[in-house]
Amino acid sequence: MNCDLCGEREAQVLQPHTNRKLCVPCFLEDVKSRIRIEATRLGIDRSKKVLVAVSGGKDSFVLLDSLREFLDPDNIIPFNIEEGIEGYNRKDQADQLIQLTNVKSLIKTSFRESLGYALDQMVSGASSSGLKTSACTFCGGFRRKLINDFARKVGADVVVTGHNLDDEVQTIIINLLRGDLERLVRFGSVPLIVSSKFVPRLKPLRRIYEWETTLYANFRGYSFQDVECPYMLRRPTLRARVRELLYQMEFKSPGVLLRILDTFDQISMNMRSKLSSALSLPNCIICGEPTSTGRTICKNCELLIKSGLLDSPLKSTY
Ligand code: SF4
Ligand code: ZN
Ligand code: ZN
Repeated sequence: MNCDLCGEREAQVLQPHTNRKLCVPCFLEDVKSRIRIEATRLGIDRSKKVLVAVSGGKDSFVLLDSLREFLDPDNIIPFNIEEGIEGYNRKDQADQLIQLTNVKSLIKTSFRESLGYALDQMVSGASSSGLKTSACTFCGGFRRKLINDFARKVGADVVVTGHNLDDEVQTIIINLLRGDLERLVRFGSVPLIVSSKFVPRLKPLRRIYEWETTLYANFRGYSFQDVECPYMLRRPTLRARVRELLYQMEFKSPGVLLRILDTFDQISMNMRSKLSSALSLPNCIICGEPTSTGRTICKNCELLIKSGLLDSPLKSTY
């Protein structure tokens, strides 16, 4: 059976959300062009310094591989953070990814180097203090902080991450389930700037399915290890349950994830016009970074205090 796009080569990929059958070159081109359209809409093509968060996974490969086709390689700064999770080290993959995409050498840091503790130490501090916070809460919060700190340090215009469509829709559903209106408003197709200390974070893969990034990386010869983080396996989070539910919905009704994202983007734009003027974040009294409305200490500092890893200036509160 021939490809629905070129009509010449043999089709090897069924794309359920468009009901098209594509050959490998047309599939790769389709993914790249959708990323480019999104990147252009977000203004990434006009940025002078783009910090690219590189985890070493398939999504970061697809991200760098597509960005380098239309950005000046000198404007791309790949940045990798090692969280410090026993049995889950993707440093070598990140190096392989840089070689394969032929962009500037990777800048690396680690939780231990930048924060004083590896993620495993944070998690064990939390559990000895009786705290039931998941490893992902520590991981996500501190990773965001380190990426933002480094972006500010090098004067990047934007931070670009490899979040794909599945990640985006999971986050939307989680924020809905938690009733977190502030996060919902801040989440959307373009970042809402609520503090001058935040470098805008853009996600050009947000309309690309996870199965597409997996296939793209495979076809391009990137040999990534698709192992799950041990924390994900040890304690299934709300995200893992939402992910499973969304897989089933997408399987039964192809394209549903894209429809959820499009609908949410419209709702978010409407919500923003009503709420954004009220959203200007205060700064944490310990680290000075922006924190959520109504807080004096940011979530990251609070987690360290509650885990016994940081002294609190407000001992009675924590
Ligand atoms: Fe971090 Fe959680 Fe992802 Fe593991 S699953 S890398 S702990 S966010
Ligand atoms: Zn084709
Ligand atoms: Zn803080």
